[in-house]
Amino acid sequence: MKPLAQPVVTLVGAGPGDPDLLTLKAIKALQAATVVLVDDLVHPEVLAHAPATARIVHVGKRGGCQSTPQAFIEKLMVQEALAGENVVRLKGGDPLIFGRGGEEQAHLQAHGIEVRVVNGVTAGLAAAHDLGVALTHRDHAHGVVMVTGHASGSGPLPSVHWPQLAQTAHDCSLTLVIYMGVQSAAQVAHGLLQGLPGHTPVAVVENASQTRQRQAHGRLDQLQALLLQEQLGSPAIIIVGDVLKGLLALASGPITACAKLA
Ligand code: SAH
Repeated sequence: MKPLAQPVVTLVGAGPGDPDLLTLKAIKALQAATVVLVDDLVHPEVLAHAPATARIVHVGKRGGCQSTPQAFIEKLMVQEALAGENVVRLKGGDPLIFGRGGEEQAHLQAHGIEVRVVNGVTAGLAAAHDLGVALTHRDHAHGVVMVTGHASGSGPLPSVHWPQLAQTAHDCSLTLVIYMGVQSAAQVAHGLLQGLPGHTPVAVVENASQTRQRQAHGRLDQLQALLLQEQLGSPAIIIVGDVLKGLLALASGPITACAKLA
């Protein structure tokens, strides 16, 4: 195969799972790919857009599970791009929202590789869609914060200061959209309760946009009970804020869960 004139890697957002949420740009990038490096949150149907001859490499990384080291993924992308392959790095949601896409971009650029980025629908927006709520409904919120619940302080930044974030969300009327928050939900809720009232509405959406999507909602001071009772697990988005008030009003009791009808 004729090598590309300039080595290129395209970071493609595969969206939150529903293959119909792929962009046309994502499909075009996949159609041109010779090598596709895929995350484990990517729906298998998305790969049907890649040519049958394309080499598919699964490089899944799930919190707590056996995972491909990030350094290996970055090295492989560089190697394949320099060998003249048309490399697509297919990532769940939007490639530059969490999931270390920014680091991959910087690593590739440092090796003289051109990086193209194709947006995807990020999981937080898909979760809001599935709940039927407007994250920025003007009666309740001036804006949205996307924040990781995983930040343990092991990276370059100190860990999230939940009481301070809660106070800001309260004072500035902000909706919180928490990624990777299921494992640390008890700690996150404990911190948030220092700045937000216990009755603040909370919702959890597991597998947003997919037929196996499940969701539950209740009060912030019941978040842990909600997760345990409904057995909600990763991947899930936790949303906190008054934009969920309508959901609580619909609830018959303090905790409500429902599964999407497939
Ligand atoms: N780049 C991705 C986020 C990667 S971080 C995006 O833009 O969506 C991985 C986290 O995203 C998961 O722990 C979970 O919190 C969230 N997530 C990804 N897909 C999801 C889905 N279909 N439903 C709910 N949460 C999801």
